[in-house]
Amino acid sequence: MTQKTLILLKPDAVERGLCGEILHRFERAGLKIMGMKMVWIDKVFAAKHYDAHVKKDFYKSLEEYITSGPVLAIVLEGVSAVTIVRKMGGDTEPKKSLPGTIRGDFAVHSYDYADNKGISIKNLIHASGTAKEAEAEIKMWFSDEELHSYEAVHEKHTR
Ligand code: GDP
Ligand code: MG
Repeated sequence: MTQKTLILLKPDAVERGLCGEILHRFERAGLKIMGMKMVWIDKVFAAKHYDAHVKKDFYKSLEEYITSGPVLAIVLEGVSAVTIVRKMGGDTEPKKSLPGTIRGDFAVHSYDYADNKGISIKNLIHASGTAKEAEAEIKMWFSDEELHSYEAVHEKHTR
């Protein structure tokens, strides 16, 4: 099933100059860019995006992390895009995420390390967790006019 999903290249990905490297992986897999913009979100928007985590112990550090610099917000479309993108991103904890995944290849944090330091796990990328989450997040981050529909040349081989 063709789906859309939202990814955010978090401030550490932007500041480390890894946006191209990360986006390349998704394009290479056959996922299509439907919309993309750079946004520096404030605390109010952060709480909306991370609504499910606002009451958790680590939220303050997560808020600080996600508002510390601009993020690159991207809507990707493809077959099973939500699952495929989560798989390519890797486990939330870089210590556990496998080599070959984005977090496994480019990040090192563990829960212990981040919690002891009072910082968020720096793991480069956000990706919608479910199709329902993707739908809500895409609406939150993009207007209809910011999303574009077109046919990519490789689509006939990846659908
Ligand atoms: P994701 O969907 O894989 O990004 O993970 P979650 O939705 O569970 O958490 C959102 C983000 O909060 C993660 O990507 C991490 O940056 C951060 N985070 C999650 N759990 C913890 C935690 O236990 N400790 C700390 N310090 N940060 C966390
Ligand atoms: Mg999540």
